[in-house]
Amino acid sequence: GVVTRFAPSPTGYLHIGGARTALFNWLYARAKSGKMLLRIEDTDRERSTEPAVTAIIEGLKWLGLEADEPWVSQYERAPRHREIAEELLAKGQAYRCYATQAELEEMRERARAEKRPPRYDGRWRDRDPSEAPAGVDPVIRLKAPLDGETLVHDQVQGDIRFPNKDLDDFVLLRSDGNPTYMLAVVVDDHDMGVTHIVRGDDHLTNAARQTLIYKAMGWDVPVMAHIPLIHGPDGAKLSKRHGALGVEAYRAMGYLPVALRNYLVRLGWAHGDEEIISTEKMVEWFDLPQINKGAARFDFQKLEALNGWWIRHTDDQDLVDMLMAERDHLPNGEILKRRSDEETREKLLAAMAGLKERAKTLVELTDSATYLFADRPLALEDKAANALADGGRETISGLLPKLEAVETWDAASLEAAVRAHAEETGLKLGKLAQPLRAAATGRSVSPGVFDVLAVLGREEALARLKDQAA
Ligand code: GLU
Repeated sequence: GVVTRFAPSPTGYLHIGGARTALFNWLYARAKSGKMLLRIEDTDRERSTEPAVTAIIEGLKWLGLEADEPWVSQYERAPRHREIAEELLAKGQAYRCYATQAELEEMRERARAEKRPPRYDGRWRDRDPSEAPAGVDPVIRLKAPLDGETLVHDQVQGDIRFPNKDLDDFVLLRSDGNPTYMLAVVVDDHDMGVTHIVRGDDHLTNAARQTLIYKAMGWDVPVMAHIPLIHGPDGAKLSKRHGALGVEAYRAMGYLPVALRNYLVRLGWAHGDEEIISTEKMVEWFDLPQINKGAARFDFQKLEALNGWWIRHTDDQDLVDMLMAERDHLPNGEILKRRSDEETREKLLAAMAGLKERAKTLVELTDSATYLFADRPLALEDKAANALADGGRETISGLLPKLEAVETWDAASLEAAVRAHAEETGLKLGKLAQPLRAAATGRSVSPGVFDVLAVLGREEALARLKDQAA
């Protein structure tokens, strides 16, 4: 069966590009009834951190892209990497190199002068180890083919040919006995049974070198798919300004995992003109050859619009559960802790149909729910205070007896009462609604004012109106 893997280096948060790579691997595994593995590439001990590992695992979990097996630490597999380096030595496919730092620097210097990429010149390739100088710890290098070419048969990029003379005898094992990324990745992918490698196209040249290691070991080369990087809307490399943030930042901005998955899959992959794609449909439709060759452009507005769509199309109860679960991650989530959980849930659910129509993020949704949990007398925003200043308080005084007389406290009855009052007094409905809204929510913008009054309940709504009446 198909085995994919996501192999991040834990040197920072799970960024948006990494999340998309994880999504593609996860989708392909789901689409083929295979599995996705997670390998944390923590061989660089100075740059790898524990919090970064946690952020990656938490980020994947939140996004719904969990691996199918416990994650593997690349660092812990170093003995196995050494073993394979020794095996390559024994097979004559690798050799010990005793070149000193000064010699290597000289090679780099010469390359600079001749304006070509640096390349190890193979000086220990055929030398007898008995000539090894004392006091130099050797590295182990691959004995790469000197001519011909290495073919990378890529599902996205097509056939890419690398002249072997450009792929020098690169290092497999450092002089301190630690493996290079090049060796570790091949040994791990082989041992973990990885059949498909899906990753960023910044690894394309590495793919050629890794192919040489597979060949030297006589192992099958996995299917490769190198996906284009994500660029900003202006076509430049993605930066923080564009949205190159950690997944937890998107979480804090109030994006739904389903919307982020929808947005990410469309970054570089398409199924006809479909914009709204459920995760089930993704799994049904996803395949590697449909991935675009060109760089994808990140577009925050599109993400927001999609998120708004998914909020509007999520069940009210599910949105309530989500808000409660996410409140510690949302900058304004405190509002959802002012009352007991039971009361908070009840109020949110009653108001949700009105709230979710305009919110593009969970932060906006929370913000629009603020009125439900406000303490009396309400703090008034400027525009709300203005709406009450110009005769608004008197309007409310006039309305109060009519509202108190309403028998069934629901939106329709409240609207009927206010309309009757409008006809009686000749005041426009809008003129009545404005101060009502201001008194009930402290704001000038809210869901429909009759819904607001109904959701607040008779007692609380009337009390808020009385607080502001003349
Ligand atoms: N650890 C590498 C990275 O984070 C990915 C290696 C791979 O996918 O082969 O860029």
